[in-house]
Amino acid sequence: MSLSSARKLSVGLVGWRGMVGSVLMQRMSAERDFDSIETTFFSTSSAGSAAPKIDGCKVFDPILQDGNDLTALKAMDVIITCQGGDYTKAVYAPLRAGGWKGHWIDASKILRMADDAIIILDPINMPVIQTALAKGVTNWIGGNCTVSCMLMGVGALFKAGLVEWMQTSTYQAASGGGAPNMRELLLQYGALHHEVADLLADPASAILDIDRKVTAKQRAFTDAETANFRGVPLGGNLIPWIDTDRGDGTSLEEWKGGAETNKIMGIGALFGSTEIPIDSTCVRIGSMRCHAQSLTFKLNKDVPLADIEAMIANDNEWVKLVPNEREATEKNLTAMNVAGTMNIPVGRVRKLAMGPQYVGAFTIGDQLLWGAAEPLRRMLRIIQAQ
Ligand code: NAP
Repeated sequence: MSLSSARKLSVGLVGWRGMVGSVLMQRMSAERDFDSIETTFFSTSSAGSAAPKIDGCKVFDPILQDGNDLTALKAMDVIITCQGGDYTKAVYAPLRAGGWKGHWIDASKILRMADDAIIILDPINMPVIQTALAKGVTNWIGGNCTVSCMLMGVGALFKAGLVEWMQTSTYQAASGGGAPNMRELLLQYGALHHEVADLLADPASAILDIDRKVTAKQRAFTDAETANFRGVPLGGNLIPWIDTDRGDGTSLEEWKGGAETNKIMGIGALFGSTEIPIDSTCVRIGSMRCHAQSLTFKLNKDVPLADIEAMIANDNEWVKLVPNEREATEKNLTAMNVAGTMNIPVGRVRKLAMGPQYVGAFTIGDQLLWGAAEPLRRMLRIIQAQ
């Protein structure tokens, strides 16, 4: 495939109706990405139906192609998949084994740590992407959502080589699990409200009666009502474990924090350097959208707070430094404020009691935008520009 050819690239989209895929369609539409590509939609569940109607997208093929049809996939210059890891596991290797040499852009975790794949977050690691493009790399994988949002916020400290280690506690929204998880959360909130609606309507009712009934209802949810969060209700609750158990006291989500941050920044054995230690505790909370995290850094030298703030604020056009004050924090550093926007607020930046090299911060980002969809569509543009 010649990237410099004047013809439009043929782009196959898989997983466009899921949570990440829907946001990707919105962004591609808003940025008029469809104007410069020939789009074919694929589905794993309704091949043969009409392709979706998306603003600004004139489909190349009006019929949904089968996402498992290797011949149809092979006809694409670029495949963008938001279908999930099982799909990548099933399709990617046979496609490559069959000789397909196109660009594979993927939201799932499966190929992230492969030596021949780059984790894409171009405002942070454009040099890594450009070097890989020049070497002929064709696998471009979106990073873990929490990692990408964190680096969009405080990547400046890593770029400056200032981080000796980092520890983070996350607050991750239901949508991180996908579309069915969001529906499950809202159904649970509805059921909890319904359970106590009479008591809430009576200002004289006892709050402990309301509380008792809510807790009893949470404990009585059926397997079907809690299927997406593995039998645990998230409504009015939190779950301090995300993704599989690695058997060493950490979850896979927590492992990604260290492994992916280093790989995105071009640090680690693959790049001939030593990894920065990063530890995370990842927690699912009952918000709809946006992943937040509380960060602790040990810097390798004492840097004045004003310099740290300036570095963060000037790193990219989406990061928004929030003054470490009550009103500004309450107004700006919330999931509700950030949902659906490209902004990455960073606040609570302060020196910690442990010593002048210790810095605290809090950041939040829409994990479906910078944490998932946005790097994928930007990678398509980078490929087109070659
Ligand atoms: P998702 O919402 O569950 O969608 C994935 C697929 O599930 C869809 O393409 C669709 O495929 C099918 N599906 C089944 N029931 C659905 C329903 N009720 N509504 C919509 N689609 C439904 O998954 P996702 O959250 O977008 O995640 C996709 C990939 O991105 C995963 O690998 C995930 O780990 C990764 N990722 C997710 C996030 C996030 O915040 N959610 C962030 C970063 C990366 P068919 O049309 O073929 O049936």
